[in-house]
Amino acid sequence: MTGNEIRETFLKYFEGHGHTRVRSSPLLPANDPTLLFTNAGMNQFKDTFLGREKRDYVRATSSQKCIRAGGKHNDLDEVGKTARHHTFFEMLGNFSFGDYFKQDAVRYAWDLLVNVLKLDPKRLWFTVYGGDEDVTPDEDAERFWEEAGAPRERILRFGRKDNFWQMGETGPCGPCSEIHYYMGPSADDPENSAENVNGPGDTIMEIWNLVFMQFDRSEVEPGHYKLDPLPAPSVDTGAGLERLAVVLQGVKSNYDTDLIRPIIERAAQLADRHYEPETQEGFAMRVIADHARATAFAIADGILPGNEGRNYVLRKIMRRAIYQGHHTLDLEGSFFNQVTDFVVDLMSDAYPELETQREFISKMVRLEEERFRSTLTVGLNKLDELFTSTKGAMPELKSLARLYDTFGTPRDLIRVALEERGFTFEEEEFNRSFNTALQELQQTASTTKHESKSAINQVYETLAKRSKSLFKGYQTTNVTDAKVVALIKGNEVNSLGEGEEGEAVLDHTPFYAESGGQVGDVGVLTKDETLTRVFDTYSPVQGLIVHKIRVERGVLNVGDTIAAEVDVEKRDATRRNHTATHLMHAALREVLGTHVKQAGSVVAPTYLRFDYSHYQPLTQAEKEEIERLVNYHILRNEPVQTDEMAIEDAMRSGAMALFGEKYGEKVRVLTIRGLEGVFSKELCGGTHVRATGDIGLFKIVSDESIASGVRRIRAITGTDAYERFREAEVLVDELSSGLRTSRTELVNAVARLQDELKKARREADDLRLKIASGGIGASANGDESREIAGVKVLAREASGLDAPAMRQLSDTLLARIKSGVVILGRSSEGKVSLIVRTSADLTSKVPAGQVIKELAPIVGGRGGGKADMAEGGGNQPENLGAALQKSYEIVERLMA
Ligand code: ATP
Ligand code: MG
Repeated sequence: MTGNEIRETFLKYFEGHGHTRVRSSPLLPANDPTLLFTNAGMNQFKDTFLGREKRDYVRATSSQKCIRAGGKHNDLDEVGKTARHHTFFEMLGNFSFGDYFKQDAVRYAWDLLVNVLKLDPKRLWFTVYGGDEDVTPDEDAERFWEEAGAPRERILRFGRKDNFWQMGETGPCGPCSEIHYYMGPSADDPENSAENVNGPGDTIMEIWNLVFMQFDRSEVEPGHYKLDPLPAPSVDTGAGLERLAVVLQGVKSNYDTDLIRPIIERAAQLADRHYEPETQEGFAMRVIADHARATAFAIADGILPGNEGRNYVLRKIMRRAIYQGHHTLDLEGSFFNQVTDFVVDLMSDAYPELETQREFISKMVRLEEERFRSTLTVGLNKLDELFTSTKGAMPELKSLARLYDTFGTPRDLIRVALEERGFTFEEEEFNRSFNTALQELQQTASTTKHESKSAINQVYETLAKRSKSLFKGYQTTNVTDAKVVALIKGNEVNSLGEGEEGEAVLDHTPFYAESGGQVGDVGVLTKDETLTRVFDTYSPVQGLIVHKIRVERGVLNVGDTIAAEVDVEKRDATRRNHTATHLMHAALREVLGTHVKQAGSVVAPTYLRFDYSHYQPLTQAEKEEIERLVNYHILRNEPVQTDEMAIEDAMRSGAMALFGEKYGEKVRVLTIRGLEGVFSKELCGGTHVRATGDIGLFKIVSDESIASGVRRIRAITGTDAYERFREAEVLVDELSSGLRTSRTELVNAVARLQDELKKARREADDLRLKIASGGIGASANGDESREIAGVKVLAREASGLDAPAMRQLSDTLLARIKSGVVILGRSSEGKVSLIVRTSADLTSKVPAGQVIKELAPIVGGRGGGKADMAEGGGNQPENLGAALQKSYEIVERLMA
């Protein structure tokens, strides 16, 4: 029986018993954000079971497309390894909505399997719920199986994990009963035993699960639930089509059924190898075949590869397949789209949506394949290098995290690559350790140069223990009564004299210490006659603000009370850029999508720089839209609100935080609201403008790629943006007055000029050629050649022509003299080029190659070529005339 026949037999059987055949719902779950993909036949009937939706039938049957590759149901890691798990599979099912119950469900299942499909009852096992303190063992199910014909000893009790089903914490639930099948050679094998049911391995395999929705679970008090019998119990069943096919087609594995094997063969054909199940290549082909099904079906249902949620899961699936093809099967170029295309061929009879979406699927797969390959090549090479350096031992997680961080090698693939080398990990566990490693890595990376120095300098640690510096910079940019708590020059010193450089710590300060991308403040410290310049501010240890200083005049002492004044102009420029960074971050997410994450930033007085995750260059339209959005919020002059709150509250309020950033217990949250509510909300310790209008103006100046999947934007604001516009204005004015046209006509005018220039150049070339071939001083008949030993020789200068034109001229002249030798030379920019042409009748006597060999040295160079045409040159233009003169002699000698 083919897979298609099994599907049809199942659906027909239940139709014959009063069930309405219902089409599969899409893989993209409708109205259920809790679900990544449709993963069971009952999904589309959820509301019907809950009594929220009425249907005009009480019995239904379907073959449902399912994907189990993420969330609560995740079989992705089993694919290719077990014989029975897929990411995509079809679940056959029959459903009763408050109509028939346990007895009929059991009867139908037995009848279909044993009487219709003719499965051997001696290979079937039936499990039922064994009960707990709230629910009695499912004796009904046991009795019904027995009545249907199952031998007592083949009916087994199991616990909650296997045989109790619930929709959620509350709602419908009930015992279930599974049917398992022994797949070994003979029903009499000792392996066909109760101990192997629900055991490891695939020899006894679950094929069908019958769920009896019998209770309503509700919470009586927090953490305590009660079960009430449902007034109208329901039935939900699920049988994997691929698993039924295994059993009915007498093969060992889902991958050998007619549903999947042809896809494997297609992959094998593309790779030009045979499918051998036990090899690494065999595994790769299974993964590709399975993932090709998931990919084609998911895309046909509107799920596209992306960076979040189900889209990310799909990308992961696709990339695993592409990886296996590229890495294990050495497939080059796009191959995966050919496999998915084959899936469309194979399955569109049963699922016509595949055919409708054929082009689209192919295009999406090709795109993803192209995008991924470049990333992959780099990442895998690096991974190989890593293993070479560890001689095959497990590399440090941090080095692996670096691959991900720098080259965008997906962590999922890093894990797959590790598994190939014999290191296995639980996915969640791996992700957790990986994240920690990544975080450490990014922290060290974001550690400033000052901080790494401080590691060797204990002075700051000691100082921080003794005194904290209070930061006053949010409220003010100058204080008049700051006390110098410490001065540092290598070690702590008591004073710094005129001309000395060092560092100062104050008890309180308006100077902002470099952090979160915002540069440190600059300014001055003054006391009476003493003037000290602050050229940078940083924080080597938490709580300590260190000013880098140079005493310009007088002496600065520990204990001095001084005035500390930040350079307000620079600080204001920095504020503008910082708030603009937040607006731009929000705008990027709005325009490009929420996959955009900050990957680093610099906020300086003269510019802002923002690194973010995104896969493509910004289009002109996107760039314009981002600029427009930011400037729109600037013009609305929205207040910039800062709140201090506990970190948990901040996260709960939805504020964006930076991955890998160290935050204290209390954080500042910066909020900017637009017409439609919060536009930007981020954790931020930096200094900002009071309202967005202060920014003045915002302009993106560049967008470039800095690593795979990471881009960098530079932008300017305020006076810098204004200056840029002003300069552009001046430029446009100068251009339009120079070209004597209006600004609106400027582009056209330039295009016209370019056209004219091109035409003029062409005309000039033609003219030069004409002049040269017409020749000044040419004889009346246009023949300026001389007769040398009965041969016409024409030697002349052709300066002013370029190389092609001189060649062309030699053609013309040779044609004109018909029989003879033409020698042309031109000088340009200190170099000489020569060409010698000999007509066909003279090539044996005066070969051009011979002539040039003797001529070229005269102009200080070399030359060579064939008997009819030769070229050469040198770097002594002053000898060009002599060389041309000499050519007559050369011909004469050759003719002699
Ligand atoms: P298993 O324990 O074998 O993973 P399950 O308990 O997850 O199966 P159910 O959730 O009861 O399975 O799903 C109903 C039926 O769907 C199963 O009996 C099986 O035939 C099929 N099925 C479930 N998961 C998969 C899968 N990943 N690939 C193919 N068929 C599956
Ligand atoms: Mg499972």
